[in-house]
Amino acid sequence: MRAKKSLGQNFLVDENVVARIVRALAPRADETVVEIGAGRGALTARLVREVGRLVAVEFDRDLAPILQERFGLHENFALVQADALEVDFRDAISPAKTARVVANLPYNVSTAILQRLLAQRTCISELVLMLQREVVERITAPPGSTERGYLSVFVEAYCEAEKLFDVAPAAFRPVPKVWSAVIRLRVRERAEVESTDQDLLWRLVGAGFAQRRKTILNNLRSAPETLRVLFESRGGAGAALEAADIEARRRAETLTLAEWSRLARVLEGGA
Ligand code: SAM
Repeated sequence: MRAKKSLGQNFLVDENVVARIVRALAPRADETVVEIGAGRGALTARLVREVGRLVAVEFDRDLAPILQERFGLHENFALVQADALEVDFRDAISPAKTARVVANLPYNVSTAILQRLLAQRTCISELVLMLQREVVERITAPPGSTERGYLSVFVEAYCEAEKLFDVAPAAFRPVPKVWSAVIRLRVRERAEVESTDQDLLWRLVGAGFAQRRKTILNNLRSAPETLRVLFESRGGAGAALEAADIEARRRAETLTLAEWSRLARVLEGGA
C-alpha cells in the first residue's frame, strides 16, 4: 500500500530506532499506553507485548483493518480508528485514569496533536514523541533563543521537556526531507500557570509573538481588539508591561514563562 503524504505517513523501518523509542518509554505491564498514528505497526508490535493495555489510534481507514487483523488477537490491544484531533483521551483509556503516550507523529499535524494532548493533560502523565527535529528545537528553546515561540512557552507551562536523540531521514520510508528527533515530555503535576487565566495567557502569548521582529510593546499594541480593551483598562500596553516589570523594548522570545503569566495576571479582571 502506498504511503499517503496527506496523512504524514513516513513509516519507521529502522529496528534500532524502534528499539530506542521503546526503551525510552520503558513500558510496564501495569499501565495503559496510547499510541497515536500506529501506521503499519512498527512500534505497536513491540508495545503490545510489553504494556498492560495498548490503545492504538489510527486515522487511515485502509490501515486500521490491517492493524486490527495483526494485533486484534492480543487481549490488551484496542484500536480507535479516528482523527487524534477529535479523540477524547479520557474515554479512550478508560477504565485507566491516566496513561502515557508514545507516537511517531505525522508531521503535518504534529503540533496540533500535541496541543490537543496537552489540553487533555489531566489524564496523561508522560509523552515520548518523535517530531521533526526543528519542532523539538522550538519546544526546548530557552528564553533568549531565536527558536523560542508560542509552542515553547505553551509546552513549558505544562511539561518538563527533555530531548532524547536525533533520527536520520534514512530510518523512514518514504524518506523524509528533514531530520527527526525524539523528545520526552513529563506532564507537571501542578502547572505553574494553573492559577492564571489560561485562555487570556495564550491569547497574550499569541499576540506577543505575532511579528517576531517587533518589540513586545509594538506587538501588544496591535493585538486583537478583545486584548486591546483589556490593555486600555490598565492604562495601555506600555503601562501593563511596566506593572509586570517587563521592559517594553524586549522581544517576545526573551520573556520567561513567569513573565508571561505575570503580564496575564496584570490584565486579569480587566474590562
Ligand atoms: N507509527 C508508525 C511508524 O512509526 O512507522 C507510523 C508513523 S507515521 C509518521 C504517522 C501515522 O499517523 C500514519 O500512520 C498516519 O496515517 C497517522 N495519522 C495521520 N494523521 C492522523 C490523525 N489526525 N490522527 C491519527 N492518526 C493520524
